[in-house]
Amino acid sequence: MSTEPTKILLSEDEMPRQWYNIQADLPIPMPPPVGPDGTPIGPDALAQVFPMNLIEQEVSTERWIDIPEEVLGILKLWRPSPLYRARRLEAALGTPAKIYYKNEGVSPAGSHKPNTAVAQAWYNKQFGIKYLTTETGAGQWGSALAMSCKLIGIECKVFMVRISFDQKPFRKIMMKTWGADCIPSPSTETAIGRQILAEMPDTPGSLAIAISEAIEQAVEREDTRYCLGSVLNHVMLHQTIIGLEARKQFEKIGCYPDIVIGCAGGGSNFAGISFPFLYDKIHGKEVRVIATEPEACPTLTRGPYVYDSGDVAKMTPLLPMYSLGHRFIPPAIHAGGLRYHGMAPLVSHVKRLGLIEATALPQTECYEAALLFAHTEGFIPAPETSHAIAQTIREAKQAKEEGKEKVIVMNWSGHGLMDLQGYDAYLSGRISDYPLPEELLQRSLASLEGHPAVPKL
Ligand SMILES: *Cc1c(COP(=O)(O)O)cnc(C)c1O
Repeated sequence: MSTEPTKILLSEDEMPRQWYNIQADLPIPMPPPVGPDGTPIGPDALAQVFPMNLIEQEVSTERWIDIPEEVLGILKLWRPSPLYRARRLEAALGTPAKIYYKNEGVSPAGSHKPNTAVAQAWYNKQFGIKYLTTETGAGQWGSALAMSCKLIGIECKVFMVRISFDQKPFRKIMMKTWGADCIPSPSTETAIGRQILAEMPDTPGSLAIAISEAIEQAVEREDTRYCLGSVLNHVMLHQTIIGLEARKQFEKIGCYPDIVIGCAGGGSNFAGISFPFLYDKIHGKEVRVIATEPEACPTLTRGPYVYDSGDVAKMTPLLPMYSLGHRFIPPAIHAGGLRYHGMAPLVSHVKRLGLIEATALPQTECYEAALLFAHTEGFIPAPETSHAIAQTIREAKQAKEEGKEKVIVMNWSGHGLMDLQGYDAYLSGRISDYPLPEELLQRSLASLEGHPAVPKL
């Protein structure tokens, strides 16, 4: 029996005090965000939507950015998060691979999202903002921001995608408990919401619609700004605390991963675990890095790399990213947080550069993996997280076939205790696979017409 602990822990003193900005180390810089005519957008163009201190982070190429003391103090309520060795899962698989998971489900809202929500609320408050608007899909981001706004002392309003608003009443109650206002999107509160409701009264809504509504309200008021839970560079930055901690935890046990895995919706938890390891990879280390997504929303694996808008009303600049088209209405699969039409420009860029791999997984395989995880490690994962688990299991089986003792680490992005309808559906045989039909994809990609072309590598 080895003496290696089940949980590799850091003390609060060992917490990273700076975030890692991968923009400092990209072998080729990213294309800039542009306007509809293809001319690059300057920081000023974003000033109505975001506070300038976050816009500065968005465009920064400094490698290390200090984490403010007050933000660190709040993160310490649950950080450093434990790195677990999944011995019981390994045993069930009979694999020689060593499987580790970074448990981000220990935060008060139950996922990695508070890592950036706390920081964003703090920078907005610092800038004099009184009111934040945002969107939420499954509700994890809305609840993370609601909690963070309460802790920091700022008001919060959340536009929640209609289908989740109806299917996930408990997330809505969490937001209200933390004092936020939560309304279903599309709503009659905004011009774009009213327009969409007139066109499609029965729409389940989408993140892209909710984003448009939240931005519309933010730009109308001087004391209000908008927050995004994923996709943007500064969100990826704030999440790097996950990978920075993980790297220290591996150092403690004298080990380094062969494979780093994260599920990818907008890309933030994946970026969080992987960018610090990509720093090593860019500087010569050998490590495989894999992003996994649902085959129902296959942005990285089937979307083209294009300039596309982050929202349906095209209120955001055009961002260089893999995208299914901003009018994409995702099928009602049970991994709500993985249904965004685009992918973070930074994650898209490292994919395009060949620094990472991507896979798309069927829903039933992911639920099966989630159950095996719950049966061996105890924790019930979020449906999003189950994609990372399923990919980890694939790699662990591969290692078994090859007879190799590989070290695999996954980001365990959140728990599934607020997503039990999905488990109910799976356990009663109501979950089936849904690879996105090619004709739906093609129809959705038509919304990209007229966008400027991205520069060649
Ligand atoms: C939101 C969420 C995701 C997906 O979002 P990313 O920005 O891609 O990380 C994944 N897992 C959980 C638990 C989430 O709440």
